[in-house]
Formats: sequence, C-alpha cells, structure tokens
Amino acid sequence: MLRAHLQRTVDEISTGSDSDYSSSWISWFLSSKGNEYFCEVEEDYILDRFNLTGLNTEVQNYTQALDLITDNLDDDVAEEFRGSLDVQARLLYGLIHARWVITSRGLAKMLDKYKKADFGRCPRVLCQSQPLLPVGLTDVPYEKSVKLYCGRCEDIYSPKSSRHGSIDGAYFGTSFPHMLFLVYPHMIPQKSGIPELSPPGVKAVEGADGRRGRRPREEAEGTSEVMGEEFSTANVAMKAERYRPRIFGFQVSEIAKLQRWQEAIRDR
Ligand SMILES: [Zn+2]
Repeated sequence: MLRAHLQRTVDEISTGSDSDYSSSWISWFLSSKGNEYFCEVEEDYILDRFNLTGLNTEVQNYTQALDLITDNLDDDVAEEFRGSLDVQARLLYGLIHARWVITSRGLAKMLDKYKKADFGRCPRVLCQSQPLLPVGLTDVPYEKSVKLYCGRCEDIYSPKSSRHGSIDGAYFGTSFPHMLFLVYPHMIPQKSGIPELSPPGVKAVEGADGRRGRRPREEAEGTSEVMGEEFSTANVAMKAERYRPRIFGFQVSEIAKLQRWQEAIRDR
C-alpha cells in the first residue's frame, strides 16, 4: 500500500533502521522508535466494537482512523488527509491500548515487557534496579505525559528519554500497574530497606552497608535555621506530595482491604 510505504520510508529516514514492508500498521507503529512502551493490541480485540465504546467521540475521523489501524483504509484517501489521519490513528491506538492493558491478555503482554525491563529501571539506589511500569496520572488524553511506577518504592518517575517522556500517559491509564500487581501478586517486589519505613523520630535500623538510609540528611534539612521551631522532619514528611496508587479511582489500599474482607466472608 502506498500509504504504508510512504510512512515507512519517512520512518526509515528518521531512524535509519530497516522496516518490514510487509507488516501491518500496528507492527509498524510498535517498531517505530519511541513506541517501545506499547504492546501489541490483538486485532480481534480492536474488531470487537464493544471494546471501543465511546472512543468515536474522542477521535476525529474515527472510522478512517480505525480502518488505518486495521489495514482496511482505502488507497484513494487524499494525500493531504493522511498526515492528520495518522495523528488520529495514533490517538485511537493509544486509547484502545489503555483499555487493552488492563484485560487479562493485555496484562500478560505487558508482564512480558516488564520482565524484560522494557520500561526501564528505578533510579533510586535502594531499589536495586527494580523494573518499572508505565502509568498515567490521568485517563484523559492530552493532559499529562506518561510516568513510570516503581513497585518497590511505590513512587513515580519521569522516563529518561525525551522520546518516551512525551508519550501521553492516558495511553496506559491510571490503573494499569496496580491492576498488574493485583492479578500477578507474586510479581510485587519484596520490600527491603527497613530504614525508609521507620517512623520519624525512631532511630533507623542500620542497613547491611552500615549506613542509615536517609535520616541524617533529612534531620539536617529539618533543623535548618530558616525554618521555625515547629518545622520538624515529621511535618515536612506530612506535607510532601505522595503518589497514591489507584484502580478505577479507588485507592489500592482500600481495594486490598475489600479483598481481605471478601476472602474472610468466602472462607466462612
Ligand atoms: Zn523504586
């Protein structure tokens, strides 16, 4: 197809890589540089219109964008239209992707990528290169770029590469990493680093390397003369913004509580 041929030629020029001319739009998209966080959405999922409910109002030229993704676009579509259609096709694929990655098959695909550390590793030293998972801060497109969630320190980071840093977070969604750990609880990283968990004022347990985690530095900051007497480390910690894992808007800790309750009822 001419459309596919043109796109792949442009991609080849920009990346210098060999493209597979016989591949579909999706495999072309996945092999394009910067799209490494995405997994393959299976065609039968896309072709089941039930899965796409509501997306027609979010994407302009929805029908043609869907045809482009599924390699059904007529070749006689005007050349000047193709550029904007490609943008809409990427948006549509991203929004479908966000729904796909929280299905059982989508989770399995993303789990494979997680095991290969395709999303990078936590930059925090005490996390010992823990692989990360992509997460959105909102499910609304064009608002926030993708962030990376560390299951060990339960914090979020920006991608190292600007190519990944500009990906829309809504293409992964706010629930995805927490859903993955809910479905694959054995993948939840073992919590280490006891010093980090000590409440303020309690002497930190010495780590294996003889250091005491973050406490000394925090104490130094907390007692700075610029701050008032009441300005303790505890107050700083209380005010620090913290990432709150959520699934469909519900805090994960509440979901865990609910699950324990359900299991208790079932056991009875
Ligand atoms: Zn971490």
